Amino acid sequence: MYRSRAIESGFAVKKNTDVAASARAVILGNKERIGELSQILKRSYHQVALAETAGELEAVSESCRLAVMTDTFSESLTIGLINRVRKALHPEQIICLSEDDDQEKERLLRSGGLIFFGSYKSFIASAEEIINQTLTVRQRRVSYTMDPRKETLKALEKRLSGRSSTMKSLLKRITFRFSAITAEALARVIEWTVALGVTLFMTLPLLVILLLRKLFTGTPLFITRTISGAHNKPLKLLRFNKIAEPFCDLPLFFELFTGRLALAGRAINEWQEESQKAENAYISTIKPGIVSLWDIRRTTKTAHEGQLATEWEYIFKKHLFYDFMLMLRALPVMLYSEPGGTPPAIFPLLGLQLNNLTMEEAINLIAINLEQKTQRAIFFVNADCLNKMVSNQEYFKTLKSGDYIFPDGIGVSIAGKMLKTPLKENINGTDMLPYLCRMAAEKNFPLFLLGGKPGIAETAGKNISNNYGVTIAGTAHGYFDREQESDRIIKSINNSGAAILLVAFGAPLQEEWIARHRQELAPQVLMGVGGLFDFYSGTIKRAPRWIREIGFEWVYRILQEPGRMWQRYVIGNPLFLYRVIKWKVFTQNSQELT
Ligand code: UDP
Repeated sequence: MYRSRAIESGFAVKKNTDVAASARAVILGNKERIGELSQILKRSYHQVALAETAGELEAVSESCRLAVMTDTFSESLTIGLINRVRKALHPEQIICLSEDDDQEKERLLRSGGLIFFGSYKSFIASAEEIINQTLTVRQRRVSYTMDPRKETLKALEKRLSGRSSTMKSLLKRITFRFSAITAEALARVIEWTVALGVTLFMTLPLLVILLLRKLFTGTPLFITRTISGAHNKPLKLLRFNKIAEPFCDLPLFFELFTGRLALAGRAINEWQEESQKAENAYISTIKPGIVSLWDIRRTTKTAHEGQLATEWEYIFKKHLFYDFMLMLRALPVMLYSEPGGTPPAIFPLLGLQLNNLTMEEAINLIAINLEQKTQRAIFFVNADCLNKMVSNQEYFKTLKSGDYIFPDGIGVSIAGKMLKTPLKENINGTDMLPYLCRMAAEKNFPLFLLGGKPGIAETAGKNISNNYGVTIAGTAHGYFDREQESDRIIKSINNSGAAILLVAFGAPLQEEWIARHRQELAPQVLMGVGGLFDFYSGTIKRAPRWIREIGFEWVYRILQEPGRMWQRYVIGNPLFLYRVIKWKVFTQNSQELT
C-alpha cells in the first residue's frame, strides 16, 4: 500500500510545514502510527519531520541527519525509496526497520544504511538507546576514518538485531542461506536448459546459414559490442551481423553457459568507464540479463519512472519466481519491439497529427502553457476513438482543433510500428495524472474534475488530493443537460479558480464539449480523460501494472465489462489496424476514408 502511494503518487508535494524545511530527522511511514517515535526522536533531534509520501519527503530539508524507514511498509518497502532518501537528503544515518528475514532484501536494506531487524514496536522499546548510538557514531565520524565507523556500525547492528544470540535465529539464517543456494542452483539449471535449447535449435542452424553466406558474399559473421557486465566490468558480446532484429542477439544465449549474462537481470547497457554515482553503484553489481524489466517497459512504452528507478524496482523485487514471470512477460513484448531510429516529433495518423513525446516532455509542455497562461485543449486518442473518428466527420474536425493529441494504447503503438514511426511513449490520461498532479501541486495549479456519475468525481477528487497533494478546486458530475445547463457548469468552473480542467464524458462527447466551450472556459488546460474518474474513485479497477506492461489492458477491460467492451476491442482493434493499412496503402489521407 505504502509503496504504490509513494512510487505512483511519487510526486505529491506538501511543502507546507516549517518543520519539514528545518528538520534534523525524518520518519517515513504511516503518520498515525509513528507519533510515539517522533516524540522520542525529538529529544535528540529537536525538529522531526514525518513523511508519508515521496512528495512529503521532497519537502524535507537537506540538513536532515537521520532518516528512519518504519515497518509501516515492511511488505513492500522499496529500495527505490531508500535510494530517494539518500539522494534527496544525504542523511548520515538511515535506519530501516524490517521484520522480513530475507537475505536478498537484507542485502538491499543494508545498502541503505543501518538495519534493525524487528517490528516498529520492538524498535520503540530500544529507540532511545539506538538514537543515542547513532548520534555517537555521527560525532565520532568527524575524527574517525571510514573503517572504524563501519566497525562501530557493525557492532551496533549486531547488538541491535541480537540475531546470532539465539538458536532460533541461527536456524533461520541457515534455512535462508540454504534456500538462497537452492534458488541460485535452480536458476542456473533453467538458464542452462534454455541456453542449450536455443543454441541447438536456433543459433547453430543460423550459424551454418551465415557461414554459407560468408563463403559466397564475404559478409562477416559477427559484430562485437562492449557492455557493462556485473560489477561494471567491460564485457565483449557477439551479435550476428546483418540479420533481422530479434535473431541478431541469439549469441547472447551462449553467455548463459559462461554465466556472464543472466536470463533475467538488469538491462544491458553499453559500457562506460566512469562509474555510476555511489548511491547507484549497487545496480551495477547485478548481472545484466537478456530479459529486463526496463527493456519490457521501454518496449511497450508504458509510463515509467525512468531507467534508474526501474532498475531499483527490479532489484528490490528480484527472486526466482519474479524472474520467471518477467521472462513470460517478455514473450508478448517481442511483438512490439521496433527497429531503432529517431522518433519524429509528429506522428501522422489517419489525417491527425499526433504529438510524439515522452510523458516527461508532455508534462513540461503543459507546465509551460500553464505558466504562460496559454489555453490548450489536449486530447488522447486510442484505437476506439480513431475508429469513431473515421465514421464521424464532426469528431474528426473536433480532434483536429485540439492543440495537442497524444497516442494512447497498444493499438496506436502497433500502428506506429506498421507505419515505421517509432513512438516515444504511450500517453494516456490515467497514466499521466500522477505526473500532472506532481507538477500542478509543485506549481500550485488547481484542478477541476468534471464528469462521471454523481459522486464519482468528488470521490476521485478526494483520493487525488490525498495522494498527490494537489488542490481540487471543484467537481461536478457529467450527467447534466449539455444544452441547458452548460452555462451554469462553466460558471462554477470559472469561479473555482481552476487552472486545469479534466473532462470525463467519454469520447467523443468530452472533446466536442471542450471544443464548443473553450472560449468561455477560464482554465488554461482542458483535457478529455475518458473513464479516469472511475479508476481514481475506485469504481472500476485498473489492470495491474504487469498486464498493462505487456499491452494486455484491453483484455482486462473486456473481462470487467464484456457487454460494452468486447465490440470495442475484439472487433474494434482489428478494424482499426485494417484502416491504418488501408490509409497507408491507398490514401494517406483520412478524409477519403469512410
Ligand atoms: N459519462 C458522463 N456523462 C455522459 C456519459 C458518460 O459523465 O453523458 C462518463 C461515464 O460515467 C464514464 C465516462 O464518462 O465515467 C466514460 O468512460 P469510458 O470508459 O466510456 O470512456 P473512454 O475511456 O472509453 O473514453
